[in-house]
Amino acid sequence: MNSGFEGWLSDQLQLLRDQHLYKTPKILETPAGGRVRMNGKEVVNLSSNNYLGLANHPKVRQAALDAIERWGVGAGAVRWIGGTMTVHQELEERLAKFKHTEAVLVFTGGFTANSGCIPAVLTDKDVVISDELNHASIIDGVRLSAAEYRKSNGWVYGHKDMDQLEDCLKRANEKGFAKKMIITDGVFSMDGDIAPMPDIVRLAEQYDALVMIDDAHASGVLGEKGAGTTSHFGLTGRVDIQLGTLSKALGVIGGYIAGSSNLKEWLINRGRPYLFSTGHPPMVAAALIAALDIMENDPEPMKRLWDNTRWWKKALADEGFDTMGSETPITPVYVGDEAKAQLMEKMLWDEGVYALAIVFPTVGRGKARLRTMPSAAHTHEDLAFALEAFKRVRDKLK
Ligand SMILES: *Cc1c(COP(=O)(O)O)cnc(C)c1O
Repeated sequence: MNSGFEGWLSDQLQLLRDQHLYKTPKILETPAGGRVRMNGKEVVNLSSNNYLGLANHPKVRQAALDAIERWGVGAGAVRWIGGTMTVHQELEERLAKFKHTEAVLVFTGGFTANSGCIPAVLTDKDVVISDELNHASIIDGVRLSAAEYRKSNGWVYGHKDMDQLEDCLKRANEKGFAKKMIITDGVFSMDGDIAPMPDIVRLAEQYDALVMIDDAHASGVLGEKGAGTTSHFGLTGRVDIQLGTLSKALGVIGGYIAGSSNLKEWLINRGRPYLFSTGHPPMVAAALIAALDIMENDPEPMKRLWDNTRWWKKALADEGFDTMGSETPITPVYVGDEAKAQLMEKMLWDEGVYALAIVFPTVGRGKARLRTMPSAAHTHEDLAFALEAFKRVRDKLK
């Protein structure tokens, strides 16, 4: 062991603790759900992306078990070399229908889909124009590309600021880039607001730019049967690249890129995580097909998600909490100060509610919040219980 290196690690970790930025994972002792046991304690869990409660749905579980019987547990190879089974292919066909696109390519995660797709479609003659609140996986994908993207050069626009976006597009045209690609979260993962897609698509068409949307938090949540932001705004066929995750509302793991058949073929040939990393176990693909069946045929989970979301947002607002203009199930409760947010998380935990404090670098410094996620897995009693806990913690801190 290199003692200099170990000393450096200890110092850095201490620095994080001092700044209230240190994270310790909580350990689940039960399946994902509205009420869980974590770290030995029964709590209402408001910190899961299991929007539709599919992560532990009996039909999804059964599909995974059946797939193990039929296929075993591993794909055995990188997908293009021989690790693509018919069940993987069926999943991609089903997803393409679900997204109303020509084709879909599945990656092992949403993060991987971003870091695989973005560098593959851009060259050093291109520019990326990006919303300042885009997800870390978009930022990493962009950094891996040869394109021009730097904030210091003016290629990052203020959050949802369409005047700034138009200014970027004008400057990009003057500079004569080969391709201009606008990238945005569909639903912003920490604030829960929705990108102004009709304006973004109109500007892209006006200035001849491409649009890529990261719909990780919109799949299963917005649009017809959960088809996402593009469907929500009636923009089907007008967005070049759509990313979705299979790890959140669909309850399993994975990410995908939906677009044209040419795009899919290009990513099969140039998407590095597809080329150099093994594909999903077959049970993952089978479980996802079962999850899609439920999303397409049973409106109940999405209805429960939105009923719970509306109730929870209104109840918090009526009590004077600031939910930061969120429009989706992602419901931040604004705190500001990092230390206070972490104290509130701890006090809520003692009351039997798990609501994670989100602090820098996930959000900006001084913009700490508790991030709450109502879902179809919660009963009304779970949310009413959580609301009482929030009120008691607020009263104690006043
Ligand atoms: C969670 C998330 C991802 C990553 O998806 P995974 O499937 O969990 O890897 C990508 N983009 C956004 C906006 C996300 O919120």
